[in-house]
Amino acid sequence: MAIRIKKDGSVQSGLVDDNVVQPFRLEKSNVRGRMVRMGDVLKQIMEQHDYPPAVSGLLSEVVTVCLLLSGMMKYEGIFTLQIKGSGPIRLLVADVTSKGEVRAYAGFDEAAVKKAAKRKKDPVHHHYHLLGKKGFMAFTVDQGGSVNDRYQGIVELKGTSIMEAVQHYFTQSEQIKTSFKIAVHPQDTNWRAGGIMIQQLPDDEAGKGTENSIEDWTRAAMLLSTCSDGEMLSPVLATSDVLYRLFHEDGVRIYSPTHVRFKCRCSAEKVENILRTIPRAELEEECEKNGRVSIKCEFCSEEYVYKANQLDAVYGEKE
Ligand SMILES: [Zn+2]
Repeated sequence: MAIRIKKDGSVQSGLVDDNVVQPFRLEKSNVRGRMVRMGDVLKQIMEQHDYPPAVSGLLSEVVTVCLLLSGMMKYEGIFTLQIKGSGPIRLLVADVTSKGEVRAYAGFDEAAVKKAAKRKKDPVHHHYHLLGKKGFMAFTVDQGGSVNDRYQGIVELKGTSIMEAVQHYFTQSEQIKTSFKIAVHPQDTNWRAGGIMIQQLPDDEAGKGTENSIEDWTRAAMLLSTCSDGEMLSPVLATSDVLYRLFHEDGVRIYSPTHVRFKCRCSAEKVENILRTIPRAELEEECEKNGRVSIKCEFCSEEYVYKANQLDAVYGEKE
């Protein structure tokens, strides 16, 4: 239980809504948006890995952005946000299914990250440079059907933060005005992240007799920029309360949220499919050397172990 502060300032007991994607709309300014708030699910994801704070901080941002962007699309399947860098951190990946099952992992050079992180004390911010000078960000919607069902957007990494890189993507490729704000607080026992994304509604969705005005958009974006990290991450303010505080003059309408949970999609079956693409002699050699073949899922760190006498079963299924 946590306390909840009502809009008139009074305090009410209630459960605060962590681990949600909360859609909303601003009636007066023809803006739609989403707020993401992550608590113990983010903690659960990060606890599966033992990443340095610089890496987990950036990965928390990627998870938050992934959830914000996924909420923007109508899809049945998997939404993936991937960032590839040329620096000590070479990969940050998060994906989420349309059911709200999220997972994430990072690929990096541990020694180089530790060395670079020593020079900067703040564990939360300013580690974007660890992605190096060249990199790109890609997002994919995989509906599970043919290649034609896949949608991919890709953009070079620009700016000084993940948020700026995403903002750059929208400025460059989308006609729809889009603005973001995110905050992360990655700490041992108190993992939290929050984010808000707003978009101007296309004219045909805005409704009859309404017109998108520059002033309306500018005001909404300005209001968003006033949202503090404290509000974004608050363990006592519900997402709807944060949105009301920010946008109450614009007639904020709250829709039902999507609840987010951690779930990995790895399985013995998938691992064995991969093993079967490797010549059996190689796996036998590995078993002779190390007594076993071991495959670890990068997303959840689950280890799949096969001994020499199990290889028959692995390869047998093929015939
Ligand atoms: Zn897994």
